[in-house]
Amino acid sequence: MSDKNMTMKALIDQAEKDLLHTYNRYQVVLDHGEGVYLYDTEGKKYLDFMSGIGVFALGYNNEYYNKALEQQIGKILHTSNYFYNVPAITAAHRLKEISGMDRVFFANSGAEAVEGALKAAIKYAYNKDGASDHQVVALEHSFHGRTYGALSVTGNSHYREAFGAMPCEARFAIMNDYESVVNAVTDKTCAIIMEVVQGEGGIVPAQEIFLQNVRKLCDEKDILLIFDEVQCGMGRTGYMFAWQKFGIKPDIMTSAKALGCGVPVGAFMMTQKVADNSLTAGDHGTTYGGNPLACAAVNAVLDQYETLGITDHVNKTAPYLEKKLDELVSKYDFCELRRGRGFMQGIVCRGPVKGVIARAMDQGLILINAGSDIIRILPPLVITEKEIDEMAAVLGRAIEGETA
Ligand SMILES: *Cc1c(COP(=O)(O)O)cnc(C)c1O
Repeated sequence: MSDKNMTMKALIDQAEKDLLHTYNRYQVVLDHGEGVYLYDTEGKKYLDFMSGIGVFALGYNNEYYNKALEQQIGKILHTSNYFYNVPAITAAHRLKEISGMDRVFFANSGAEAVEGALKAAIKYAYNKDGASDHQVVALEHSFHGRTYGALSVTGNSHYREAFGAMPCEARFAIMNDYESVVNAVTDKTCAIIMEVVQGEGGIVPAQEIFLQNVRKLCDEKDILLIFDEVQCGMGRTGYMFAWQKFGIKPDIMTSAKALGCGVPVGAFMMTQKVADNSLTAGDHGTTYGGNPLACAAVNAVLDQYETLGITDHVNKTAPYLEKKLDELVSKYDFCELRRGRGFMQGIVCRGPVKGVIARAMDQGLILINAGSDIIRILPPLVITEKEIDEMAAVLGRAIEGETA
């Protein structure tokens, strides 16, 4: 039994008896948030530079967002996809406008969005030749989610090792190495899937020339290009979707994480050409996907992005963030280099960053790693220079502890 008076330690002990242990969690029980700050159950305050893995773009307890959800809860939470609902109709139309894609399917998570994207690509190829042995080219160090289809194309063999044959036959190439993509493509390749900025794999941005070449290869061979924008999308790089920086458009793309800013929702979107030649009635479905609550969240998020000028703010403030991180990199030998785009940054270090992250946490700064040696900076998109200063000061002290 848990009650309000349990200490954080007792809550964690309880959790470790009841929850399946699939995460080595930070030893903190979060209770509430306000703006870019989080509070644990014992009242300790944390500056958040992780935003629930890139989800809480708007910061916590956003009044407009909360009100929109409350209003929707008072109306209807769920209809099933046997009916239309207004929030989904509105959200789909707005996503088309901001993405330039033509058709939208709502799912419940990033992994589910990837599943749908893969099914669309495989069905597209099936409609051409009737074969069922198509392959997908993905990238090493990619991350696309933990369900079987998404896992098939996730470029981390450790995640796949124990789980046997994968449903989707994937061949892996290397980010920013066009030759490796050419070598991975065969007559059976139906799609190339990639993140425009790799997130879990270490904050690795795709170069423009690489994207251009891959796009051209896909056009020549009628291979579908899938961009997984689950982490790098929704304004994080200063563009609503990271590919828009270069105008290199995918055939299918995914979104999730910041799309709902806390309410679980994902989406995959495609061009009319793919829609006309892939999934039709009966090919794909979901009970919850596109439900009125999730789509009300999407609409509220998009409203706030406009009102607050989120992409402008990211573009205006990112150079300051980069400057402060660069200062840390040049000051501390432990840090090797910084890379990233906008508010999606990584500091590559010369050893495991676990200790740095733990010391930052003790001092009230929440960070996350990407791989063992990279500090990942993934703040809410509303952070200001003042909070960047605060982060840099604490992070500096935390890194000092490593070199001491
Ligand atoms: C997080 C992530 C996913 C998986 O999303 P879930 O909502 O955890 O299923 C897929 N792709 C990318 C790029 C991600 O960062």
